[in-house]
Amino acid sequence: VTGRPVTASGATLVVNQVFGAWQGEGPSAGQRATFIRLMGCNLACDWTPAGGGPCDEAQTWDASRFNLAAQGTRWTPEALASRCEHGLVVITGGEPLLHQAQPGWAALLSLLLANGVRAEVETNGTLVPDPDTVARVSGFNVSPKLASSGMPLKRRIVAAALLALRDSGKAIFKFVCTSPSDVDEVDELTRYASIAPRLVWIMPEGVAAGPLLARARILAPAVASYGFNLTLRQHILLYLEGEPR
Ligand code: SF4
Repeated sequence: VTGRPVTASGATLVVNQVFGAWQGEGPSAGQRATFIRLMGCNLACDWTPAGGGPCDEAQTWDASRFNLAAQGTRWTPEALASRCEHGLVVITGGEPLLHQAQPGWAALLSLLLANGVRAEVETNGTLVPDPDTVARVSGFNVSPKLASSGMPLKRRIVAAALLALRDSGKAIFKFVCTSPSDVDEVDELTRYASIAPRLVWIMPEGVAAGPLLARARILAPAVASYGFNLTLRQHILLYLEGEPR
């Protein structure tokens, strides 16, 4: 975990990691980006019973497995913006929209906008974005969770948030799938929410290259039949577990 101490300017965000990497997933895959990973999540996903694994960023929220105080460091928006040397910033988590009421959030988005840096926010789609956030970000990568995540329906699907993100005109929807029946569930959900297939990316679950590719091959026919997009996870394919990215 990288971090910097609090500076005197006041507004801060609690950050788990800041790093440069290619965006590995979705429509911006392959683009060089700065990732800002914020602490905290309102869900607790675990795909283990469905044949997958637990949340791969549990260090941002799971107090039963991690010392969260040691995982998060306070950063000023100015310090964060100074690290954003690429044209794209991906603000991720955890669930980054948990921070949108913080002064540091608005300040960071304003600084990025002023610097001509595009900001994509990765969200689980359960929180309504505020109007200032919608105005300042370049896009939302919304990843609603399916039944295979182990989360109860009421927690993982919040219609008001999903529809607000859809109506922002800045969202794409990315679904982690473990089986073709997950892709059927995506079809059902996106029809319910009137989300066009061209805005949908299916991503196989997997944190190692072999299982990820095997799952992608199994999912591909169903993904094609619904007219959805398919994304792999470039960072998983490129690096062995534990290697720097
Ligand atoms: S929403 Fe994302 S970060 Fe939160 S528990 Fe689920 S997979 Fe992990």
